[in-house]
Amino acid sequence: MYRNKAIAAVLSTTLLFGSGALSVAAENPGNNGGSSHAFDNKVIKKIDADAMYNTVDLLSKQPREAGTEGEKIAVEYIKSKFEEYGYETELQPFKLEGEWNAGTSSVTLNGTAFSGDVRSFSGSVNKSVTAPLEFVGLGSPTEVEAAELEGKIALIERGVFNFYDKIQNVLDAGAVGVIMFNREGASGNNFGYTYDGQNIPAVAITREEGLELVDQLNTETIEATVSVEGASYEMLTSYNVIAKMKPNPNKDTGQIVMIGAHHDSVHGGPGANDDASGVAGVLELARILAKTPTDTEIRFLTFGAEEKGLVGSYHYASTLTEEEVNNTVAHFQMDMIGSKDAGDLIMFTPDGEKNLVTDLGAAAGARISEVVDYGELGRSDHVPFYNLGIPAALFIHAPLEPWYHTPEDTIDHISKEKLQQVAEIVGASVYQIARKDTPALQNARVAPGPVDYDYDDRPL
Ligand SMILES: [Zn+2]
Repeated sequence: MYRNKAIAAVLSTTLLFGSGALSVAAENPGNNGGSSHAFDNKVIKKIDADAMYNTVDLLSKQPREAGTEGEKIAVEYIKSKFEEYGYETELQPFKLEGEWNAGTSSVTLNGTAFSGDVRSFSGSVNKSVTAPLEFVGLGSPTEVEAAELEGKIALIERGVFNFYDKIQNVLDAGAVGVIMFNREGASGNNFGYTYDGQNIPAVAITREEGLELVDQLNTETIEATVSVEGASYEMLTSYNVIAKMKPNPNKDTGQIVMIGAHHDSVHGGPGANDDASGVAGVLELARILAKTPTDTEIRFLTFGAEEKGLVGSYHYASTLTEEEVNNTVAHFQMDMIGSKDAGDLIMFTPDGEKNLVTDLGAAAGARISEVVDYGELGRSDHVPFYNLGIPAALFIHAPLEPWYHTPEDTIDHISKEKLQQVAEIVGASVYQIARKDTPALQNARVAPGPVDYDYDDRPL
């Protein structure tokens, strides 16, 4: 996977900074093979891989699943470090759906309590409806249309179609409740989902009992009552940690750069690489950049509930004002940046297109070690920022290590060299935007030039 490009050759193209960059490249020949560019030294010479490693070690002592005490301990630690470095720091709480509780549910048929087991699966809908019962087979559009469901309770057989479609079909036809029986060959009644917006009381019964109801409906009409009470999601609180430092007021370009990672882990996983490693990178760059004069506001962010579906980063992105979004020129996300057993560094964008972040990352890589390739992937906290139109990329090693999302994602699989390399590349890229003497990135007098870098579709 690893390709060591000849720097002299790649400097013959310009991608971002215009023709002026060529003269910079010419002033700095032989800038390859691991010797760092003087431009970067203010940042990368100060990066301490031992400190990063120790942060990973400390954070991975226990799982940090979002909404748990383990997350809270990590969040307090991260906050204390940001404050120690002198940043204005904020814990941003947000709500998270935890375990679902089915509550209690019941069915009556023509005024008599149904004798079988009833289990609700209707999200957090709590109500009681009484209406004629109508069998709609598997709940296909054709079957539903034939049944004239308006104001009725639908009796549905599980199978063939997914729960979402079955429920949506009967909802669209005007049904007020759902009784679903199990599919062929399956026992019990522990199944079913409704989705956001499908606000209908729905319960599951066994196949045998469902088929009995079908028989009964062939000979008589049934007035059914479906009641669901107490179905709810446990509400948890997760946090984002936000640290900001305003630039020198006389030099302020009004621009913002963000550096992010996620502090939560999967359930039961120590999450050393995923993503204590990224948090260590964020904290280390925060430590260094706290003492570096800049013309750009830098935000250091660690997100909660990434593993629950990017919940924290979506929440944070939703709290940005239009002005903040417009002023944010780049978001660098570090997720899983330290595994000994993963592949080489790659930069992923959700659309598989280059942007300012990948341009800077590739060029910094070329100055520091090797050009970094790019590819297409969402699945981390760069996505909400990309969705707002902010240039954003994920820095990660691929293919992933075998310990990904397992209890073996521990400190002993972490490489100090990899932590160091990614922090250097992200730090040098951010510094290129934030340093005082480059209010305009195209300032060829001081800014290093661009490089050519390739799309890489290597598997994860
Ligand atoms: Zn993960």
